[in-house]
Amino acid sequence: ESRPESMASFWMPFTNNRDFKQHPRLLVSAEGMYYKDVDGRSILDGTAGLWCVPCGHAQPKIVAAVREMVGQLDFAPTFQMGHPAAFDLAEKLMEYTNHRYGHVFYTNSGSEAVDTALKIALAYHKARGEASRTRLIGRERGYHGVGFGGISVGGIAGNRKPYGVMLPGVDHLPHTHNLEKNAYTRGEPEHGANLADELERIVALHDASTIAAVIVEPVAGSTGVLIPPKGYLKRLRELCTKHGILLIFDEVITGFGRLTTPFAGDYFDVEPDMMTTAKGLTNGTIPMGAVFSKKHIHDAFMDAPAGIELFHGYTYSGHPVACAASLATLEVFKEQNILEHAAGMAEYWADAVHSLKGLPHVIDIRTIGLIAGIELAPIPGKPGVRAFTAFKKAFEDGVLIRTTGDIIALSPPLVLEKKHIDELFGKLREVLKNLE
Ligand code: PMP
Repeated sequence: ESRPESMASFWMPFTNNRDFKQHPRLLVSAEGMYYKDVDGRSILDGTAGLWCVPCGHAQPKIVAAVREMVGQLDFAPTFQMGHPAAFDLAEKLMEYTNHRYGHVFYTNSGSEAVDTALKIALAYHKARGEASRTRLIGRERGYHGVGFGGISVGGIAGNRKPYGVMLPGVDHLPHTHNLEKNAYTRGEPEHGANLADELERIVALHDASTIAAVIVEPVAGSTGVLIPPKGYLKRLRELCTKHGILLIFDEVITGFGRLTTPFAGDYFDVEPDMMTTAKGLTNGTIPMGAVFSKKHIHDAFMDAPAGIELFHGYTYSGHPVACAASLATLEVFKEQNILEHAAGMAEYWADAVHSLKGLPHVIDIRTIGLIAGIELAPIPGKPGVRAFTAFKKAFEDGVLIRTTGDIIALSPPLVLEKKHIDELFGKLREVLKNLE
């Protein structure tokens, strides 16, 4: 009962929520597929934390690598110097992406990765003598973190509202989600690829020579697991190439195996010019993000006229402990065949997700790889309340799910077994059956 007061200085959006203050959910330890809460109860992790623990919690190899590095080299600047793990990791990441990229830039989070990618895109055009390319294009319902760049290109108006000023010259592609309503999809919806042609409308409005980059989440995660229609991303790629616009995939959620492939680009067979990542990059163990850029982008800076160097970087870019965590994560992916295991679970997972069809208030279900969105009908006049009630009930029953509006989002650690899928959906089914 005395706990709520002790949370007073902890500023997260939900801290202002009275309900949270009365029922704080405190996690104190984690291992494999489970958290333990402050009362010692096991909570099955249906979300991989916040979509970021592909290899499971407290993965022994990753924990050991972190322990070793923090004792060996607690910190080293990568500004004007370096350390071996930063270079080793760059090499391994190039390998993990099949050498499709020529350069990786380290950040500390997904938000920083997004702002970094946008800055690289703008500076790239300038370095090539196309300084007029300053406009950026995002997509409705896209989430790209909380930096000014990220909220400007992000497609959530509410996230921009309190601040007044944003990056100028931003347009948003429409989202395809309305087409998918009540579609109960497994994998990509069949219709809607032509919505990518909305890019032509924006180009006609402003002229291609003013547009620097398009940024999209291949599968929009935070706004409810919205899967692109078949052919949509390919068409977007074609149009960007045609107009000399850089295509950035924000793979902060989809990267590192969420769709059972290394990245979503691999799943959809579309190559962006740049890719932002974080979360699974270090198995969530130490904060880190990374921006991957094609070689020609990096090379443009090498040949750029004086004065167009990219001055950008963070104190903790390439932090040795984060690099060690990421190197160990990549080893675990390889040694434990994480992607193959995830692929082997995908069908059982999709069956389980779709078994919720027909339960009260369920109006749509979408799943691809090991991610799912279960959309509930909102209580009239009380958006989000129904799903949040389900979240609380599920937590009480020992499973962690995530909600966004009235959509339940699921994204378990990729190391899950069938028994975990049974437990997760067994409990979730009971929660939904009894939901008002
Ligand atoms: N991009 C995407 C697609 C994300 O899902 C997130 C975080 N959920 C971010 C960027 C921001 O990452 P971070 O919270 O690490 O800043």
